[in-house]
Amino acid sequence: MIVDVAVPYRIHSTFHYLAEEEPNPGLQLGSLIEIELGKRTTHGFVLGFPKETSIKSDKLKPVLKVLAEEPVFNESDLRFFRWIADYYCHPIGEVIEAAIPRHCWKISNRGRAKASRLIEAADSQTAVGIPTTAVTAPELTEEQRNAVAKILEVAPGCTILLHGVTGSGKTEVYMAVVAECLRKNQGALILVPEISLTPQLLGRFSARFPRQVAVLHSDLTATERFVQWQRVKRGVARVVIGARSAIFAPVTNLGIVIVDEEQESSFKQEESVHYNARDLAVVRAQMEKAVAILGSATPSLESYANAKSSRYSYVTLKKRIHGRGMPSVTFVDMKERDNLYSQKIPWLSRLLVNKINEKISEGLQTALYLNRLGYAHFLFCSDCGHTWRCRDCDVALTYYRSPLSLKCHYCGAIRKPPQDCEECKGTSIETIGFGTEQVEKMLVQLFPTARIARMDRSVVKNRRALESLLNRIADKEIDILIGTQMIAKGHDFPGISLVGILMADASLNLPDFRSNERTFQIITQVSGRAGRAEHKGEVIIQSLNPAHPVLRAAAEMKAEQFYDSELQARSAFCFPPHTRVAVIRFQHRDAKKVEAFAYDAADFIRKAIVRANLRCDIQGPAEALLARVKKMYRWQCLLKAQSPKVLRYFLTLVIHRAQQLKSPVQMSVDVDPLNLL
Ligand SMILES: [Zn+2]
Ligand SMILES: [Zn+2]
Repeated sequence: MIVDVAVPYRIHSTFHYLAEEEPNPGLQLGSLIEIELGKRTTHGFVLGFPKETSIKSDKLKPVLKVLAEEPVFNESDLRFFRWIADYYCHPIGEVIEAAIPRHCWKISNRGRAKASRLIEAADSQTAVGIPTTAVTAPELTEEQRNAVAKILEVAPGCTILLHGVTGSGKTEVYMAVVAECLRKNQGALILVPEISLTPQLLGRFSARFPRQVAVLHSDLTATERFVQWQRVKRGVARVVIGARSAIFAPVTNLGIVIVDEEQESSFKQEESVHYNARDLAVVRAQMEKAVAILGSATPSLESYANAKSSRYSYVTLKKRIHGRGMPSVTFVDMKERDNLYSQKIPWLSRLLVNKINEKISEGLQTALYLNRLGYAHFLFCSDCGHTWRCRDCDVALTYYRSPLSLKCHYCGAIRKPPQDCEECKGTSIETIGFGTEQVEKMLVQLFPTARIARMDRSVVKNRRALESLLNRIADKEIDILIGTQMIAKGHDFPGISLVGILMADASLNLPDFRSNERTFQIITQVSGRAGRAEHKGEVIIQSLNPAHPVLRAAAEMKAEQFYDSELQARSAFCFPPHTRVAVIRFQHRDAKKVEAFAYDAADFIRKAIVRANLRCDIQGPAEALLARVKKMYRWQCLLKAQSPKVLRYFLTLVIHRAQQLKSPVQMSVDVDPLNLL
């Protein structure tokens, strides 16, 4: 019997092996087996049993053994994996390896014994402390009821964009739909951007559907993950919540796939297979006749365009629940020196200081948003102009005071800050720019009696730290919260009635065609934190360019106006969603080699485009904006075409050529890239 096997390596072909003819109950499609590949022993996945092979039978190697009792995937999973491999131009072995991580099948005997007790036990919830009786659903608003009804009407296999303003109660809509699925004995899959940042959502689902929720995330131990995976596979848990890789959870009889905050870039896998779990949710729902819901207050332009063109159904929630109004927004022009609180602090306006004081005296809370980590942007020698940069990456090091360090945000390298300049030995070292750490320090001086906390990656390092901080905010133990986009992530802060946005226009200047969209999204999300409870919210946006149409549209909650004008702009420049884009990246430690290889590949594609007479544009090659990361020099080219099929055609050609050339330069392909740096 010939066996077609995919191996977990960057190899674009599959391999044929030989298995005993006698009935081998362990060996079937989806089986995990051990094989010899070249000189090494590795595991592989059985894709099928072809009738014949071009390899001579005495050259066929035998299957060494079957590694797991049960197959790790079935035919319908395989169809999904093949789609992914095809669409993202990635070897199927690595796709399966990404979809079914080792901890799902590789477990010690002791672990297995412990796991099997946990899987069947009724109280086997390992992820969250769960009540055993369900919390009853609150009465939905009319708008929510209509949304639920519309979603339930949609035909299986379709996708819905649920566009609801911040505070409109999307989670209740999700839960009502999930309850309906469970009633029909269907499973539900809920994807969230970062599980560690969403303890509130997790808690609500677990309380509503006790014992039925499985959580898949990276904080779990190997045994816990195995238990959760098995609970899903055996149908013990019918509701799965997880981050992007949960899109592969083995939910049977899938009724609904929900992607919350669908615009978030964390759904995109930036290593190995460059899939976007949001897009895979749509595909999986289609294949399994389930319904996909993409929910957001600020949808991606791609999803919005799909809703406009009726490829997706469009359901909106325009009102905040509990009759709360939208916050009022004031702009402060930070170019006007008179508006500054002090000439020494260029990031703080007089108005914001007054408002914070007002809120403190009323016992209300303030949140300040700044998308910059650290104390200062970088260090600078004013004698010779030297700046401190990472040795391995082409970026300046961020300066931190506690603990005192210089950090690279790309490779994680940490250095001690210098006493004197490494170039000229001068001692006039200055800091340039500011980050959340500096803002926090200044706030302590400006508001000596206020209780101040910071919420960013450098202080909130895990779920426990986040939960404790969220509890302190909820218990009104904090007056002023300063944070990065972490504060925008769907947390419900009922006491916060003032939001201040510092340097609102910083992200508009990034050289990326999505910079307008991202700025609109973050301003809308951060503003949405204001005034969720009985107090009307206020938002103060500090900007050097307060008339900027993107900031205005976000402030005035004119989402449709923003989306429509942005769609026009994208169309003029042939950017997605009007075209499909792929980036081909090249990297190597040798700058010359990578450059030569990139030119060769681009040249090859150009000629192929002419030969094929298909409409496809290639830009580059060019040095990546981050020209060096982790000692690797980086080049890239951008491919644009009207359809993913055309892109795939040229990508496949160039991948084959690279394989033939056997160059040491690493080449990778990113279809629908989110990161163009
Ligand atoms: Zn110097
Ligand atoms: Zn670095």
